[in-house]
Amino acid sequence: MSENKIPYKIYLNEEEMPKAWYNLRADMKNKPAPLLNPGTGQPLTAEEMSGIFCEELVAQELDNDTKFFEIPDEIREFYKMYRPSPVVRAYCLEKALGTPAKIYYKFEGNNTSGSHKLNSAIAQAYYAKKQGLKGVTTETGAGQWGTALSMACAYLGLDCKVYMVKVSYEQKPFRREVMRTYGASVTPSPSNTTNVGRKILEEFPDTTGSLGCAISEAVEVAVSNEGYRYVLGSVLNQVLLHQSVIGLETKTALDKYGIKPDIIIGCAGGGSNLGGLIAPFMGEKLRGEADYRIIAVEPASCPSFTRGTYAYDFCDTGMICPLAKMYTLGSSFIPSANHAGGLRFHGMSTVLSQLYHDGLMEATSVEQTSVFEAAEQFARTEGILPAPESSHAIRVAIDEALKCKETGEEKTIVFGLTGTGYFDLVAYQQFNDGKMTDYIPTDEEIAASVAKLPQVPGQE
Ligand SMILES: *Cc1c(COP(=O)(O)O)cnc(C)c1O
Repeated sequence: MSENKIPYKIYLNEEEMPKAWYNLRADMKNKPAPLLNPGTGQPLTAEEMSGIFCEELVAQELDNDTKFFEIPDEIREFYKMYRPSPVVRAYCLEKALGTPAKIYYKFEGNNTSGSHKLNSAIAQAYYAKKQGLKGVTTETGAGQWGTALSMACAYLGLDCKVYMVKVSYEQKPFRREVMRTYGASVTPSPSNTTNVGRKILEEFPDTTGSLGCAISEAVEVAVSNEGYRYVLGSVLNQVLLHQSVIGLETKTALDKYGIKPDIIIGCAGGGSNLGGLIAPFMGEKLRGEADYRIIAVEPASCPSFTRGTYAYDFCDTGMICPLAKMYTLGSSFIPSANHAGGLRFHGMSTVLSQLYHDGLMEATSVEQTSVFEAAEQFARTEGILPAPESSHAIRVAIDEALKCKETGEEKTIVFGLTGTGYFDLVAYQQFNDGKMTDYIPTDEEIAASVAKLPQVPGQE
């Protein structure tokens, strides 16, 4: 197709929206390592998991073989409120950069929660409702996941209890009020409402919290309240499965115009948006049908892939959750108060960890101020105020486009624009005032938390 026939924004119609989620694990030769019971060191059984998670989600979590999971009609109906989401050519950014590269982004910020997290929130809330539960508990960092889950629970009539990382609770009061408007209860974490929260507060009274702490609290509340289960917005296999809707739509949109990406870029906190965006492309790569350069971008302040260790670790600070084999900085690692709250997790999806370990994707880390410089350039050229998390991907997309400028290569770059930054204006204010700093953990700090990795029988 000739270039001038390609629209600025590629929209799909409702019929072109995926009817099934794609399970990348089915195409992986080396499957991601199973979650382990921390007590026995043995793989978690469906029965053990069903005390924490909804049954249908447990089945999805454990299934490494079924390639497609049909998306229930009720979820597709909900998706239609904000999907399919557009793939947009960043012409103005390209022009400003003077690059021969073609830059596309998949925009997931077009819903009130402001991020891709709603794709999995509605799925998880739906299965909880179907199981007849009263409600769900969860943690939220920057607040996008908590907001998404609150929206999904309001839609389905489920109770929603959110533990919000304290630094975000204080920095983002408006985010909290959106959740409360959707009917959720929001507690700053660590709190004295749980045993694990009280323990953490006793040891670290001044802590600003972390995702790992908040997860511990939310799990404790779920397992000690009848009719409640815990849901998680990232990291898990089931979440990557639901997020495959991002990649499937992207692939359909690009295929429609014969566009083949050379480089696919996404920010990586727990790995859900990146895992979803790359799923069908990585599937082709695993099946030997196509090749792509895939780049995970993480903050230099929380560099799980680039400076972490591939080992079994707890997903939470309180060490009550199952063990996952992943690139981790250690569950006791508490990252500095970086503004990209959604990327402040010590570990990484087991699926992406395995792919990275097998050399099927790359990772890089970027510093906060350079991320906000990219955010500013993007906002001024493309008009959208990006989330700080998403801006990690923007940074590397710009860097790759600038490399093309030097070499004259017309590469096609696709990145995930996971959300908008309207609740991140305290961070933008710091940047605009020239007061933003970059914090990079020392090798000693990382070594200290990695030294506390759990001993697992049969593991190094
Ligand atoms: C949560 C979040 C992320 C990071 O989470 P992943 O699971 O790694 O995708 C990225 N961008 C936005 C806008 C988020 O809300």
